[in-house]
Amino acid sequence: MLNFLRRKVYLDNNATTRVSYSVRKTMNRVLKRHWGNPSSGYRSGKVASQIIEQAREQVAKAINAHTHETYFTGCATESNNAVLQTLSNHFYPEKRKIISSPIEHPSIANTLEFLKPKGIIVEYCSVDKFGFVSAKEIEKLIDNDTFLICCMLANNEIGSIQNITEISALAHKNNILTLSDCVQAFGKIPIDVKALGVDYATFSAHKLYGPKGVGALYARISSPLAPFIHGGHQEEGMRAGTESVHNIAGFGKACTDVPKLLSHTQRIKQLKELLADQLRSAVPGIIINSPSENCLPNTISATIPNVSSKESMMLLDYYGISVSSGSACSTHQDKPSRVLKSIGLSDKAAKETLRISLGIHTRKNDIAYTLKIIKKYLASRTQ
Ligand code: PLP
Repeated sequence: MLNFLRRKVYLDNNATTRVSYSVRKTMNRVLKRHWGNPSSGYRSGKVASQIIEQAREQVAKAINAHTHETYFTGCATESNNAVLQTLSNHFYPEKRKIISSPIEHPSIANTLEFLKPKGIIVEYCSVDKFGFVSAKEIEKLIDNDTFLICCMLANNEIGSIQNITEISALAHKNNILTLSDCVQAFGKIPIDVKALGVDYATFSAHKLYGPKGVGALYARISSPLAPFIHGGHQEEGMRAGTESVHNIAGFGKACTDVPKLLSHTQRIKQLKELLADQLRSAVPGIIINSPSENCLPNTISATIPNVSSKESMMLLDYYGISVSSGSACSTHQDKPSRVLKSIGLSDKAAKETLRISLGIHTRKNDIAYTLKIIKKYLASRTQ
């Protein structure tokens, strides 16, 4: 086979990450030996239950939460749905308004749209050209009807990191709760839910080299929360259903590896900056949409004028390079990205934008290879 067809460069780590060896080892052990039902009263059930509680401690420790504030879910989408729907039921009709940003992940944005016909009022603050939310803009939208401010910690498409501590302080001054989707930030920057001051935060294992099919919800002890999946007593009666013990154990293990993941930050950031600099000099008119400060260390959003992202993704894929045009959850939609439109891109520019997200396995020669292919392709188009 031709050499380049064997080469694989994975630059879509915001979509998902490769399950690490240590996580796989933990999960395999649980699948092989500890397959008991955690609710069973005999020994194998008790062991399975202990595995879940150990994982809960590991997740809670990684985000600086208490175990009583940490619930396992099926994914972050479920965690986001749980908070938005629980709170809407809890406050409605006394309070009806949620303030959010226009750059949230579909698991927030589409849930907010779902709640609107049920009487929930949703107002969106504006963002600047790098996707930054300003607390002052949020403040203008606050009124006595507001019960929740919902703002992600780091954006999945462009990487902007918000000042959630400031937003939480503003919310609490006005007796309003806060939800922050921390999915993309977890494992890439340090997370401390107490320092962020949020009431709710959501997480997903598969973004930090853990398995798919398990997420977590942090709910501060005194914050309202009601059962969001009805049935048995699991997860303190909040989320019924027999637990996915191996996935939960894998998530716990991935969380113990967070310090190791964070030790890659500087190296990944340098590679990203190298890629951004070289793209700027190689691609005429390229626009880097990601901010240079307060940005995830691994994420670049780049608009290549007059080259559709569909076309460049297909070309890169042919050469074994995986990148995306935006959120993996919107891949099959032909619409321009809502996030990119919110930061001021035209429909055309949004459809010419690639998201490149590096990970702990990215090496300098992966960046060089990707640049070589992009340059070769652009040169062939001008001939
Ligand atoms: N929130 C953000 C910011 C994400 O990037 C994602 C996944 O891409 C999710 C939520 C949803 O996570 P999950 O795949 O666990 O449902």
